[in-house]
Amino acid sequence: MEVNMSHVFRGIYGFALLLLATIVAAQEAPQNQPPVWNAKPDIAAFEKMENSRIAAAQQSIDQIVAVKGPRTIENTLVPYDEAIRQLNAASYFADLVQKVNPDAAFRDRGTATAVKVSGVATSLSLNRDVYQALSTLDVSKSDPATRYYVQRQLLEFRLAGVDKDDATRAKLKKLQDKLTEDQAMFDRNISDDQKSVMVSSASELDGLPQDYIDNHKPGADGKITITTNYPDLFPVLEYAKSDGLRRSMWGAWNTRAYPKNREVLIDMMQTRYQIATLIGYSSWADYNAADKMMQNGNNIAKFIADLNTAARPVAEREFAMLLAEKQKSDPKATELYSYEGFRLGELVRRSQYDFNSESVRPYLPYPEVKKGVLDTAATLFHVTFRQEPNAPAWDPAVETWDVIDSGKMIGRFYLDMHPRPGKYSHAEMSAVLDGIRGKQLPEAILICNFPQPTATDPGLMNYGDAVTFFHEFGHLMHHILGGQQQWAGISGISMESDFVEAPSQMLEEWMKSPQVLASFARNYKTGEPIPAELVARMNRASAFGRANGVSLQNALSAISYDLYKDNPAKIDVDAVCPHDFRQYTLYVPIPSDAHMYASFGHLAGYSSQYYTYMWDKVIAEDFFQQFDHNNLLAGEAPMRYRRTVLEPGGSMSANDLVKNFLGRPQNTAAFQKWMEEEFQPATQSNGTRAVEQ
Ligand SMILES: [Zn+2]
Repeated sequence: MEVNMSHVFRGIYGFALLLLATIVAAQEAPQNQPPVWNAKPDIAAFEKMENSRIAAAQQSIDQIVAVKGPRTIENTLVPYDEAIRQLNAASYFADLVQKVNPDAAFRDRGTATAVKVSGVATSLSLNRDVYQALSTLDVSKSDPATRYYVQRQLLEFRLAGVDKDDATRAKLKKLQDKLTEDQAMFDRNISDDQKSVMVSSASELDGLPQDYIDNHKPGADGKITITTNYPDLFPVLEYAKSDGLRRSMWGAWNTRAYPKNREVLIDMMQTRYQIATLIGYSSWADYNAADKMMQNGNNIAKFIADLNTAARPVAEREFAMLLAEKQKSDPKATELYSYEGFRLGELVRRSQYDFNSESVRPYLPYPEVKKGVLDTAATLFHVTFRQEPNAPAWDPAVETWDVIDSGKMIGRFYLDMHPRPGKYSHAEMSAVLDGIRGKQLPEAILICNFPQPTATDPGLMNYGDAVTFFHEFGHLMHHILGGQQQWAGISGISMESDFVEAPSQMLEEWMKSPQVLASFARNYKTGEPIPAELVARMNRASAFGRANGVSLQNALSAISYDLYKDNPAKIDVDAVCPHDFRQYTLYVPIPSDAHMYASFGHLAGYSSQYYTYMWDKVIAEDFFQQFDHNNLLAGEAPMRYRRTVLEPGGSMSANDLVKNFLGRPQNTAAFQKWMEEEFQPATQSNGTRAVEQ
């Protein structure tokens, strides 16, 4: 559920790509932009393209420095933004290759190239001549977006340490390069360490859906292999009767990349602390918050504490229900372990809310969900999508789509949606190219791991997967609709990075609408649309567990903050996770939970900023109140939302985006109501209740 920020560098917001860089002139109509894998590069061709991007960026930087006489937009900001465009392109492409290329050697080159590009970006952020040039640029007569862009870049330059002496800047450069390397290593160690648990007989899979059991036949040795890939893992945690199997799977999942990533994490913490203190901050958390909505570390701590106060009483009511469920088979139980929440939550939903999440899966075969996500987004955002047939890609399963607005192509996206060995194992949207009005179409990719339909298997998805799909697609639409700015550096999701989850989290509400779901969710055997009554029961049941979910998210925010809030010499990394799980959730951690940091990928890219999800959930629920809850696709709100929140991209502060849409800053009233929804009386039984919150 994340946006890739691992290579977003301070001051160089986003990074992107155009393969035929050397032959596509800047003024060429973007309608002719070829798909990203058009040249079908091998490793050598990939490196050549990347190097030409880096060279082009360097040329633009040299051009800025060489200017004699007064600074103008034309001789300074234009080449500056061109450097950003080229470096972003190179970085996005390296990241793409690293995450999705089927060839491990190619992925390795992707990782190495990502590090190289980031090094160039770091040098730029510490380039005093470029900083001087931008700071003497007179933008008083420019449009507000351009003024905001320059002001924000100057802040990022200062946060990079550009105004420090030569020795300090050289040191910062070294530290940044090391950090980039460690971040890439941290990510790679996680995706490379797919674990599995061997099961000795099919009876251990008791409780799991029949299609799951059919897809997990014993091997030659009679054993069944269950991997930590999402489609393998989550059904076990939710449905398996075997406590031992669920515990082993949870342990395998939470110890991925351990112990390898222990040293990498400690290294990242030390490097980040050194960077922060060299710039003049007392901790990485403080430093990292300086250009965010949050502004400083204390505000993060305060947000976590406030959220804990709000969630705790509701979480305790839920916990009592979960414990009562456990006591049905274990009357003496007084505690719940971390891995039990999935299964017990499912059992409570069955017994208390008459809802079995299995009953929804037959309505959610992957191809129908994909169509539903695209159709819903098209209606909501007033665009259409058109698949490009036979577009070349790194794997035959990848699809290429165009985004059309009023008959005009405004962007492109790629769907790489099913697991492959060595592929990035999470779900995310990554930028592929920044949009620049009249010059470069925005492009993005969804990298997901949903079940792949086969001749004998319709690829039934869990409801949660469908929600994730729409969530990630929301990031993609934000990147594309926000990708019509004049400058690469303010394109797409380049605003304060603690805002980017708000639009996607808001979209999750659409997947609760009986009307929206019935438009695509049809039983794969009978063709019957999902009944409104089932959706109503599902919504009621899924409201159960929210406060515990918020508590868990809050614990993760605390882990991410606590690892970066102080001098790392004072922090025992193996103690932080158990402490924060106990502090913020009602579950008892099991020993393997102490090492979950090793596979907590956000610690590399988001670092101290995991709070973003809950911070943005508050904004998302507030935003959602603006829409017509009887018909989420109707009225003026969708277009007003597109215009005031998504289209501005990073051309203004996120605080202003919020105010422009709501007419005031966000508040927590809607969030609190959302969290307590399960305990509010059901007002109607006709299936509309779910959208009336
Ligand atoms: Zn997200």
